[in-house]
Amino acid sequence: MKQIDLHIHSSASDGTDSPAEVVRKAGALDLAAVAITDHDTVAGCAEAAAEGQKLGVEAVSGVELTSRYGRTIHILGYYLRTNSPVLTRTLDRIISERDERNRKMARMMAADGIAIDYDEMKSRFGSSIGRPHFGRVLVEQGLAESVQDAFDRYIEKGQRYYLPRWMLSIERSVEVIREAGGVPVLAHPFQYKLEESALRQLIEHCMDHGLLGMECRYSLYDEEQSQYLLALAKEYGLVPTGGSDYHGANKPHLALGSGTGQLCVPAAWLEPLRALATSTKMRP
Ligand code: AMP
Ligand code: ZN
Ligand code: FE
Ligand code: FE
Repeated sequence: MKQIDLHIHSSASDGTDSPAEVVRKAGALDLAAVAITDHDTVAGCAEAAAEGQKLGVEAVSGVELTSRYGRTIHILGYYLRTNSPVLTRTLDRIISERDERNRKMARMMAADGIAIDYDEMKSRFGSSIGRPHFGRVLVEQGLAESVQDAFDRYIEKGQRYYLPRWMLSIERSVEVIREAGGVPVLAHPFQYKLEESALRQLIEHCMDHGLLGMECRYSLYDEEQSQYLLALAKEYGLVPTGGSDYHGANKPHLALGSGTGQLCVPAAWLEPLRALATSTKMRP
């Protein structure tokens, strides 16, 4: 049985492999399909799809939207029409709000004598720039030992250069994905450290706005956790998805396709996911 990986970051956000490189590596691993789910951008999807066509690997369009629900929740979207006007408008707003926050962070660092140029970061890192990119620059400047160290000492909430950024509400995240013909999926449900009743509330709230799936297999979850999530998804009638959260060299402990070693997402999960997308159906 072939496998797939539906949670991948490319160099269009904070991964290090280009979208085409991701697809080539997936082909070498004999994966049947991948989805590039970059943070707040679909800029890598077309390149992945083109490479996938060449190699016979399905490259599903995807996105991961950082969303506000008291705390931060991630919503994945699959099989989107990446040229949907509402999606484009929404992602443009998120990126411009990111840019505004990032420019302020860069100015705060520059005021302390750190050699940092946000325009240069834009041309080097591409569309969706976030604190992980600042982490890399701080490491390069010799101001931190690792990106994690940079977070701990400079850019984590509460540290000197941290600034919050505007986020889409969770309702809008789910709705916009639906409006773009895609399938909204609750990402890595255990990462929010919610009690079961609160997790159920979150699921039900998202379902009220059109949630259709839940990520049940994830690099950091063991079989018991996956079975728990699969049962929950079944109870709510949500389709299961799964993926590694591969970020290339930025998270070297997470391997494409296999996560920390035991990840296994069957290719059979793709069909029910695709069946829910309206962007792949004939449109009148
Ligand atoms: P941003 O959206 O620019 O505020 O950056 C958020 C991203 O930074 C998240 O998606 C994480 O990948 C990463 N991040 C957040 N907190 C930490 C942390 N303490 N250590 C390492 N990475 C983090
Ligand atoms: Zn990331
Ligand atoms: Fe995430
Ligand atoms: Fe992710």
